Amino acid sequence: MALSGTKTIEIKNISPDTFCVNPWYYLRINATGTASYCIRATDVWEEPQQDFEDFFNNSNLVTATRQSMLGGKFPAGCNRCVPEEATINGAWRKSQNLRAAIVDNNFFHESVQQSPVLSRLVSNNLKPHFVFVSFGNQCNMSCRHCFRISSNKLAKIYDQHNYQDISGLPGTRNLAADQDWTQDQSRWEKFLSYIVDNRDLHQLAINGGEPVVTPRFYELIDHLIKHNRTDIKFSFSTNGTVFDQTLINKLQKFEHCYIDISIEAIDPVNDYVRVGADYQTVSQNFFKFLEHQIPGKLVVGGHPTPMVYTVEKVHTFLDLCVEYDLESWITPAHPQRFLKVEVLPSDIKAQTSEFLRHRYANVTNASIANGIKKICSWLDQPEPADIDDLRKIFVQHTKDHDRMLGTDFSKTFPHLVEFYKAYGF
Ligand code: SF4
Repeated sequence: MALSGTKTIEIKNISPDTFCVNPWYYLRINATGTASYCIRATDVWEEPQQDFEDFFNNSNLVTATRQSMLGGKFPAGCNRCVPEEATINGAWRKSQNLRAAIVDNNFFHESVQQSPVLSRLVSNNLKPHFVFVSFGNQCNMSCRHCFRISSNKLAKIYDQHNYQDISGLPGTRNLAADQDWTQDQSRWEKFLSYIVDNRDLHQLAINGGEPVVTPRFYELIDHLIKHNRTDIKFSFSTNGTVFDQTLINKLQKFEHCYIDISIEAIDPVNDYVRVGADYQTVSQNFFKFLEHQIPGKLVVGGHPTPMVYTVEKVHTFLDLCVEYDLESWITPAHPQRFLKVEVLPSDIKAQTSEFLRHRYANVTNASIANGIKKICSWLDQPEPADIDDLRKIFVQHTKDHDRMLGTDFSKTFPHLVEFYKAYGF
């Protein structure tokens, strides 16, 4: 069936295997001021955008991505989702479609026709429902799994040591150490108007760098309050190193605010990875945030990124999430395969998988139960053919970062030293 609006599309050409609603709903603005159509898309390093509305409706990137999906093909920028299609946890893409009532079965085409996305597919005058924005890479930490695009502190350390950011996303490895597109006052004001005037906007999510050390973050909150846009779902990610009561007082004015706190573990491994953090201070702050929760209105969530260094201790944080029944968003290290849990020795992977399965066997918190399923699937998968190469890169990355960041792998992980000697440690 053909459907017409500003343009005409053939619904039968849309494939349940490649379609995703996100390019019609999401706008992502990066630290450099470039933009994209999804938090997961990877081909986003075009010229910085002067006009986000024009980008969302007319840019080459968004137009080509939408056309590709309407023609049944995976867009190049969605390559991060492709490997998930066959995994036990299912594709993120499908979960996004379900949010628009599109099902992944024989009724796919019927569900597209009844979905709220339908009118968007044929329109050239869209405003995003979800905006994810980074104001720049200002950060007070230099996490070893981070990138120069996300931490100016890490970028400056890399520059001092003349170190090439091997793990950064393509197109970001040679960026200047400081990134902050909001310093262009006219772009910033245009952005503020675009957000406040967008009556379709459901959610505004801020990430970094570290938002709470960024003056524009506070300016945005004041602007939203002043213009009565506390009706949107406001969220931000934070490393939990700063607790500011004045900020909490303002966040309480929003109808819904979600604070996503990144902690790896309540253990020294957290500080080995998240360099600049002190896990005791972060956990004290975490409790202060919890004290201010208002059910359904001001909500705190935990966000660990279990990786080779931290997966053995992730339970120290997940236990808290279970105790306080918090939503927990568990994501793997990305895109660095050499930091993923698969690089651990096989006996440690097996023991950790068994330990986590047993510890959370009866957990009723769905986000933790799903997270444990995910972590165990990473730990249980067969070792890939290039595992030796990954372990060598891991060892080199670890040694380089110990030298630059003043950390010591052998003190924090004495039980792993012997194993990694065979890979150059
Ligand atoms: S397929 Fe994946 S990367 Fe592409 S838009 Fe959907 S969720 Fe984003």
